[in-house]
Amino acid sequence: MSLRPVVKIVKGVPASDGDGVRLTRMLGTQEAQMFDPFLMLDCFDNDQASDYMGGFPDHPHRGFETVTYMLEGRMRHRDNTGREGIIGPGGIQWMRAGRGIVHSEMPEQSEGRMRGFQLWVNLPAKLKMSEPGYSEFESDAIPVEARAGGVTVKVISGVTTPPDGGAGTAGPIGGGAVDALYFDVVLPAGTRFEEPVDDERNAMLAVYEGQVRVAGGKIDALSGVFLGQGDTVLVEAITDARVLLIAGRPIGEPVFWHGPFVMNSRDEIVQAFEDFQAGKF
Ligand code: MN
Repeated sequence: MSLRPVVKIVKGVPASDGDGVRLTRMLGTQEAQMFDPFLMLDCFDNDQASDYMGGFPDHPHRGFETVTYMLEGRMRHRDNTGREGIIGPGGIQWMRAGRGIVHSEMPEQSEGRMRGFQLWVNLPAKLKMSEPGYSEFESDAIPVEARAGGVTVKVISGVTTPPDGGAGTAGPIGGGAVDALYFDVVLPAGTRFEEPVDDERNAMLAVYEGQVRVAGGKIDALSGVFLGQGDTVLVEAITDARVLLIAGRPIGEPVFWHGPFVMNSRDEIVQAFEDFQAGKF
């Protein structure tokens, strides 16, 4: 076994997106640019309606996937293909923007806490212009694996590899184009989470509650932890803690990213703007 070392720890950066939604950007910043195949990770956690009510009115995407995971609150999405739905507490939406979609993501509440994440997952060139599509699962359709000491692993994407050699738990998302692992791990103080993650994947942690130790270093919420090569991820909880483990196979292609479009060349970005303005999404 070789534990993955910590390559970089980056504190989340306060940001505002959509129509004034306050959030913490943990990937996709100057300090933490893309981590192939992942482009961006936002954590939103607001008690005040004024910090989320603006939501994310109509906007386009092309060339990648967005993964929304709600912890608390409800978000309504609606798009130009006529699809509409609500992501509730503990639920996820894995959306392939592909060749293009225009959608809105708006709070379905006017008070209370709204808390969750949005991850952007890049697509390889051969899938950037694919048909848009969705996978959506409510909380009770997403399995939670119990581990020693009260550790739980909610399996959104991919399959776990329990250290006791037991059968793994499969999430409702098979991993998508990059074989993504996306686990939400809850650790009581003093417990540990150990997970084999093969070195063909890049792996990161998003510590979003409490304090943990990874490869000897103490890490506080809200931080992105970028891991190096090895075959096993180990997280030790100093306090009660919650951590996302996100891993996927790097795509290794050129990335031209402009706002809501992520393509392989400058020409393709120009084309995306032209197509969007011509109403071709
Ligand atoms: Mn969006």
